[in-house]
Amino acid sequence: MAKPKALLLIADGLADRPIKELGDRTPLEAADKPNLNKLASEGECGLMDPIAPGVKAGSDTSHLAILGYDPYKCYTGRGPFEAAGIGMDVRKGDVAFRCNFSTVDDNMVVLDRRAGRINEGTDQLAAAVNGLELVGGVKALFKESVAHRGALILRGESLGADITDTDPHHEGTEVLTCEPRDPSSNADARTAAAVNDFVRKSYELLKDHPVNKERIARGLNPANIVLPRGGGVGPHIDSFECEHGLKAACVAETGLINGVARYVGMDLTQVPGATGGADSNVMNMAKAIVERLASDDFVLCNVKGADVGGHDGKPQVKLDMIKKLDEMVGYLMAELPENTCIVLTADHSTPCAIKDHSGDPVPIVFWGDGVRTDRCQAYDERSVTAGGLGRIRGTDLMKILTQLMN
Ligand code: ZN
Ligand code: ZN
Repeated sequence: MAKPKALLLIADGLADRPIKELGDRTPLEAADKPNLNKLASEGECGLMDPIAPGVKAGSDTSHLAILGYDPYKCYTGRGPFEAAGIGMDVRKGDVAFRCNFSTVDDNMVVLDRRAGRINEGTDQLAAAVNGLELVGGVKALFKESVAHRGALILRGESLGADITDTDPHHEGTEVLTCEPRDPSSNADARTAAAVNDFVRKSYELLKDHPVNKERIARGLNPANIVLPRGGGVGPHIDSFECEHGLKAACVAETGLINGVARYVGMDLTQVPGATGGADSNVMNMAKAIVERLASDDFVLCNVKGADVGGHDGKPQVKLDMIKKLDEMVGYLMAELPENTCIVLTADHSTPCAIKDHSGDPVPIVFWGDGVRTDRCQAYDERSVTAGGLGRIRGTDLMKILTQLMN
């Protein structure tokens, strides 16, 4: 018999609540999705609380849980995964942040949090602040990401991450001073001092930088400061292969998911046309999955579009994404190697009515050889409650999957 393999397909933010315009149905209930329903009717279905019942999950904490890592133990902030996602080497004990290039005036009042959505020259600006030596012997490593975004790693002796943001999140407000949330914590105080030093130095180094002089001459907002936020300590976690004995790859569109995958030692895959939006070429992602599973044991795939529809409050975007997912799943059921188990779920609900993530559970199906097919006939939030899995948690998923794969 062929070696067992598995695909974990995560439709980001897919699950929803009943929507009036859809006849009090969720987008999944309202959509025409023959292949998803085939997967459900041949598979074993249920509901999943990504973290725990009623707990609103982020994409990062949910993916960690689903991959078998307890987010309460290994997650203190999004920064380390953002940094890993753009190829930075995050080490255990580092404190990492996501950052914006922003525009401030001489009084440190934020005029534009995104520096005119700058999209050129950020590599040169990043080089100017990368490698800075900060107060307390802390070293700053900085790399630019897409557009106005970047990531910062602080490396030094015993640093904490329970600190406040410098980014005021509003324009017209002064840059905030980073402070330890617990004034008695020396580790957090050291980090806060280093962050304040970095922010100040970034302004000194960037305000007259040639890239910014040229921007000002062209009437554009200069990227004259870097504002870090979302700090977290780089956790020590065992690799996915160590933890589950599966050689794994990731096919994902966003830096955050690629960062989580890279952090647990998965190979990343570049897919042409995978944009992270509703216009994404998901069939190219499906082809990349099939190629990966020819050699690897496990593929994690995240398709982002449905979450974007949820955040924008647009059920039609979700319906369009479900149609694309259905086509993708039909292709995968036909083309994946023999003895491949498919798990289809979401990392959280993103209800169109809320325009944010919610703590509602998500539908999940296991499909493949040996699965105990149940009476559920359709893949949606309510139909799966007839399934054999009942209601599981995110951290149960890999246990169920690996025992199914023997
Ligand atoms: Zn998500
Ligand atoms: Zn989201």
